[in-house]
Amino acid sequence: MAPTDLSKTFIRCLRGGVRVDLEVTSTVSHFGDGGCGRMSDGYNFQQLKTEILALSRATDWETAKTEWKLIGVGEAEERETCLCGHFPIIELCTITNQVTGRTADVGNVCVKRFLGFRSDLIFASIKRIRKDPDKSIGAEAAVFLRERGIINAWEYDFQQSTYRKRDLTYKQLSTRHTINQKVLAYVARRGIV
Ligand SMILES: [Zn+2]
Repeated sequence: MAPTDLSKTFIRCLRGGVRVDLEVTSTVSHFGDGGCGRMSDGYNFQQLKTEILALSRATDWETAKTEWKLIGVGEAEERETCLCGHFPIIELCTITNQVTGRTADVGNVCVKRFLGFRSDLIFASIKRIRKDPDKSIGAEAAVFLRERGIINAWEYDFQQSTYRKRDLTYKQLSTRHTINQKVLAYVARRGIV
């Protein structure tokens, strides 16, 4: 995730409701497909902050952040635009403000970087089990999925006690597969609750 490009780049933004392209010279970092990379960090953060504050009760960023909670993750069928203006994003996070009840879709990278939720670990888990169904989701993903009711309490306990194990019995492996299928089905529905 090191800066890779110091050349001029264009960023698209909203000025007075009109989309304009701004030419900027900045350090450009490249992130994964799902993220909000290729941008001036500060600028996009400002846009995200403005949008999030508009949906929050608190008026200062540090307090407003704490009103928000991650309630859904999913992969967009069509590319979407992050609240920060970045396009395209595939890895979507749905966040809700527990005070105002407002919700927003934000890209995985912005959610991690600016709100501090570890949605990246959940997406890493999804990629891992999609590639190899014998693998397990991680501990953080299990907490989130239990909280959302995607896996039940027994499955959660099983998951947390076996996720590092490689030598599972046939029955245990079968349980892991069942859990993995539930997780992938959840993501396929875009995971918005
Ligand atoms: Zn973003």
